[in-house]
Amino acid sequence: MLFAAPQLKDALDFAQSKFETSKPFVIFPSPQGALVSQEIIESLAKQEHVIIFCGHYEGIDERFIEKYVDLEISIGDCVLTGGEIPAMLIVDAMSRLVPGVVGKNKAVIEDSFYRGMLDNPNYTRPFSWEGLDVPEILLSGNEKEISKWRRNEAVNRTLTRRPDLISRASIREYISDGVNLAVIVEYENENLSGLNDMCKAYDLARPFLIAKTRELREAFKSSYPEAKVLGQIEKLYENFNDNVLVVKVFREPRKNSLHSLEVKRRCLEHKGKILFVFSENESRLEELNIEGLLCYIYSEKINVPLNVMIGITLDRLLGKR
Ligand code: SAM
Repeated sequence: MLFAAPQLKDALDFAQSKFETSKPFVIFPSPQGALVSQEIIESLAKQEHVIIFCGHYEGIDERFIEKYVDLEISIGDCVLTGGEIPAMLIVDAMSRLVPGVVGKNKAVIEDSFYRGMLDNPNYTRPFSWEGLDVPEILLSGNEKEISKWRRNEAVNRTLTRRPDLISRASIREYISDGVNLAVIVEYENENLSGLNDMCKAYDLARPFLIAKTRELREAFKSSYPEAKVLGQIEKLYENFNDNVLVVKVFREPRKNSLHSLEVKRRCLEHKGKILFVFSENESRLEELNIEGLLCYIYSEKINVPLNVMIGITLDRLLGKR
C-alpha cells in the first residue's frame, strides 16, 4: 500500500499556499535517506519554510520524490511504521536552534554535536548518591578550572566513544592551551597575505616569522607589522616550555609523516601549547632539529601558495564548522 502521487501533490499545493514568501524546502523521512546529523539539522533550521511528508505502509510513489522532494532523511538503520516520529525528531532538533527556544544559547553550543564533539558528563545534587560522588572540582567554585575539566571530559569522551566525530569537529575551543604559528621565510617576495586574519579567525596568537638575514627581517617587519620577526628558530623556542607540541607541516607525505586527521586527533589529546611550523622551502623544516610531528596535507603533489596552505591547514586541524 502506497501514497499516490496526485494526492501528495494536492497536499503539497495546499501546504505551499500557506506560505506567501519563498518556496518551502520539502523533506521526506525515509530509511533510504541521508542519515540525520547536526549539520543537516543546522541547514534545515536556516530554511524559511520546511514541509515534511510522512510516509506510511510501504511508502510513497517514487515519482513524487523525484519531482518535489528536496531531501530524504533517515533517522537511523531501522524501520518505523510511519514518518511521524522522524518528523517530530527533525522538528525538535531544528527548533532548539531557533534563538529563544532554549533559554540559554550557551547550553545549545555546549551540547553534543554542536561543535561536532560530545558533551561532558553532568551532575547535580546530592553530592553523594548510592556510593557515587560528584567530582570534587565541580564544587570548587573555580570557574576556570571547572571549564577546563569540562573541556577535558568532552575530549576524552569523544576520543573514546566516538573517535569518528573528530574529523568533522571544531576542536579549537577544546585545545587546552594556546596555539601558535611560525613561518620560516627565505625570500622577500613570499606571499603571506591574510596571515594575520587567519590567526585571528582561528584564535591564534601573533604569528612568528623567522628570517636569517637582517635585510629579510627588516623587510618582513615593515610588510607584516603584526608578526614577531626573529632571527633564529632557537629564539622561537624561548617562547615555549618543554610541553609544546611542534607540528611541522608539509604539502605531501614525508618519511614518518602523519595524515592531517591523525595530527588533528593528537592536537586534541595534547595537554599544552601547540606550534605549527611552515616554510615555502620544506627542506628547511626537515633540517630542523626539534622533536615534533610531521604532518602532511595532501597525499599527492599539489602546488598551492604557502598562505593558502596555511589556511587549509588551520581549517583542517582546528576546523571551523
Ligand atoms: N518500504 C520502505 C523501505 O523499505 O525503505 C519502508 C516504509 S516504512 C514501513 C513507512 C514510512 O515510515 C516511510 O515511508 C518513512 O516515511 C517512515 N520511516 C520508516 N523508517 C524510517 C527511518 N529509519 N527514517 C526515516 N523515516 C522512516
